[in-house]
Amino acid sequence: MAQVYNWHLGRAMNYPYPDAKPRRQFAAVFNINRCIGCQTCTMACKSTWTFSKGQELMWWNNVETKPFGGYPQSWDVKLLEKLGPQPGWDGTAKTEGAPYGAYRGKTIFEAAPQGQAALGYLPPDEEWKVPNIYEDTANRPPRITGGVREGATLPEHEVFFFYLQRICNHCSYPACLAACPRKAIYKREEDGIVLIDQKRCRGYRNCVEACPYKKPMFRGVTQTSEKCIACYPRLEEGTVARCIAACVGKIRIQGWIDDPASPVHYLVHRQKVALPLYPQFGTEPNVYYIPPRWAPRAFLRQMFGPGVDDAIAKYANPSHDLLGVLQLFGATQRLLYSFEVTPDEAIGFDRDGAEVVRVPINEPVVVRPSQHLNIT
Ligand code: SF4
Ligand code: SF4
Repeated sequence: MAQVYNWHLGRAMNYPYPDAKPRRQFAAVFNINRCIGCQTCTMACKSTWTFSKGQELMWWNNVETKPFGGYPQSWDVKLLEKLGPQPGWDGTAKTEGAPYGAYRGKTIFEAAPQGQAALGYLPPDEEWKVPNIYEDTANRPPRITGGVREGATLPEHEVFFFYLQRICNHCSYPACLAACPRKAIYKREEDGIVLIDQKRCRGYRNCVEACPYKKPMFRGVTQTSEKCIACYPRLEEGTVARCIAACVGKIRIQGWIDDPASPVHYLVHRQKVALPLYPQFGTEPNVYYIPPRWAPRAFLRQMFGPGVDDAIAKYANPSHDLLGVLQLFGATQRLLYSFEVTPDEAIGFDRDGAEVVRVPINEPVVVRPSQHLNIT
C-alpha cells in the first residue's frame, strides 16, 4: 500500500498505487436544486452508449430519488452498513489543503478485508433491474393534524425527497482500478478519465465489487465490465458529455477541477458550494453536487460531508460572481475552460480563449406598452 493525499479527507490515506496525477482532471458540478427528474440525461446516455445487446439493464447515467431510491438498489446503504459507524471529520483540523477538516474514520481502502483492495460487495442481478425504484417517493407521508395536512416550511422540509444524478466519478483514487487483477482499468494521463480496456478485461467483476458507487457494470454477452467513459471522444472535440449537453434543467456544468480558471474549480475550491458524494469512501470522486436547500441537514451531511451547511448558506445568498457562474450551467455545449463575470453578464470561453457563450445575470424586465395590453 502507498500513502496518497486525499484533500476531501484532509489527510493521507492508504491506496494500492502511488499518486500519479493526470495533467488535467475531468470534473463536473450537478446542481441538485434545479433537477426536475425528467431522465433526459439518462436517455441521452443510453441512446449514445448502451443500446446494444446485453446492455439492456445498463444505465451509465441514472437519476435516483433519495432517500429510498438507488441503482443498483440500496447501493449506498449497503456499503455504509458494511463500513460501520465511523468517527467523521475533525473540524478543528481545517487548513487550505483540508477545507472540511480531517476525516478520522476508515476509508474503503483502509477497511478492506485481507487480500482485497477495497471493502465492497457484488450486487445480485435483481438489484440492477429497477433503476427508478422509489422514484418521487418522500421519506414519509405528511402528517394530518386536526384535519390540516402538514405543509412544507423552509429552511428544511421534514417530508422530503430529492433527485441524485449519478455517473462514474472518474475518481482520483479509483477503487475499480485498484481492484482489477488484470490491470485492465486505467486513468488517462491527459484528462483523468477512467476507462476499462475491453481487450484486457476478463469479466472477473472485481471492479463492480470494489466501486463504492457501483458504476462499472457487467455485460453478459461479452463477459466484460463496462462503464461511463465521460464521452471522451466529445471532450477531445471540446464538447461536454451527452448527459450534460442534454440536461433540460440546466443543472450540469463540466470542467477541470485542477485548473483555477475553470468554473468547476471556482464552484468547488473557491466558493465551496459544490461537494463530493460520500467523500468518506476515500476515492476522491470528481463529480460535485450543490446540495438541495430543502432537505434535512443531517441527511445531507452523511451524504456530502461536513461542508453542507456552508454550501447551502452560500447558494441561498450568492455573491454576484457566483450568480454569474450559476447562469453558465447548461448555457452551451462547448466545454468552458474559463469565464468572466461582468456587472450584467456571465461569459464563457473555450480552450482557445474564444468567447462561446454570453448570458445575462438578471433576466431583463420588458414592460408591454399600454397600446398592446390585452386587458382593459
Ligand atoms: S466511480 Fe467507481 S467506476 Fe468510476 S472511477 Fe470511481 S471507483 Fe471507478
Ligand atoms: S436531464 Fe437534467 S433535469 Fe432532467 S433528470 Fe437529468 S439532470 Fe435532472
